[in-house]
Amino acid sequence: MNHCTSCQKALEGSWLVCTGCGAVQRNAAIDYFQALGQERRFGVNAATLEREFHRLSRRLHPDRFARASAEEQQNSLAATALLNDAWRTLRDPVTRLEYLLKLEGYAVGEEHAGKGKSAERQPPSDLLEEVFELNMQLEELRMSQKMGEAADEAVVKDLAATGVRFESMLQAVDDALAAEGAKWDTGAAEARTGAATQMIQLLDRRRYLRNLVRDVRETLGAAA
Ligand SMILES: [Zn+2]
Repeated sequence: MNHCTSCQKALEGSWLVCTGCGAVQRNAAIDYFQALGQERRFGVNAATLEREFHRLSRRLHPDRFARASAEEQQNSLAATALLNDAWRTLRDPVTRLEYLLKLEGYAVGEEHAGKGKSAERQPPSDLLEEVFELNMQLEELRMSQKMGEAADEAVVKDLAATGVRFESMLQAVDDALAAEGAKWDTGAAEARTGAATQMIQLLDRRRYLRNLVRDVRETLGAAA
């Protein structure tokens, strides 16, 4: 429970503004969920989140503080910056999930894989064969592009089909992340530990697949 720095009333909803005295709070420890007045969980109501963001944006707008003290102006600017970061992070399910895990003390991405040997560069073991094939197709197209030759239509077609397959895998990862997120939200300690382990692996897989899909798009774009 946090209290207003001005009137000491317990803060309700967003911790950025006191509903009692209206004072803008200056507290670097306010997390993104608290900034937007949300429970710390994966599942959020997208419409509520957006409405709250816009309401707070207006409430903290610099125009409203034109005649306020320098300190109040500074507070509103800092709160606006925090609000914008919170909105950018929480509106997207994947960045929201990563943020939630980090808040709960889990290492995500390079933090747990180690820089350099980052998990996004090591193919998931069940995809080794397909990734090998994909890399051959990419290599072949890039080579013909480099030599200024017309791309082999069969290779372009194969690569496009592989790209579609990897995109559907990416979608499957997002679906699995949402399912694990729902398990997390039940709040049971054991369910949370299990879900976190799954989510961290899924996030690695997602980064890997996303890079592959981007490579395919770029190479196909250059071949078009
Ligand atoms: Zn207050």
